[in-house]
Amino acid sequence: MMVLRLLAETLIHETVHAMIDKDHSHNAQWNQAQQQDIAFISTYAESHPFREDLA
Ligand SMILES: [Zn+2]
Repeated sequence: MMVLRLLAETLIHETVHAMIDKDHSHNAQWNQAQQQDIAFISTYAESHPFREDLA
């Protein structure tokens, strides 16, 4: 069951990179919201805010 969960999380994560990152990571409204937010979705996103905050 753990393997299936890891597989699902990986598929979702990589799908966000493939389908959403290009249009949103450099979007002015997204970048403004990101700067106003007090937290990141994960420590990984905090370490790489321009490539991992959406995924
Ligand atoms: Zn990623």
